[in-house]
Amino acid sequence: MTARPIGVEVACDGPTGRDDCPHSAAIPALVTSRTARQVRADGRADGWTTRRAPGRLLDLCPNCRTPTPAPAAG
Ligand SMILES: [Zn+2]
Repeated sequence: MTARPIGVEVACDGPTGRDDCPHSAAIPALVTSRTARQVRADGRADGWTTRRAPGRLLDLCPNCRTPTPAPAAG
């Protein structure tokens, strides 16, 4: 019987940190990355960033960290 260690998953908090990521993105962590800190280090290599928010950190995927032009209302 093989036990597979479950690491942490760092998911994108979305462009505003209040809404879900439109891409439902999560950092593809290396198998050696077991802590949130290690996973975030993996993410930085892929363009993820963290933003400091009161009481927590927001994780932003490469799509959310760059402001996208607002779609025309209509
Ligand atoms: Zn995102």
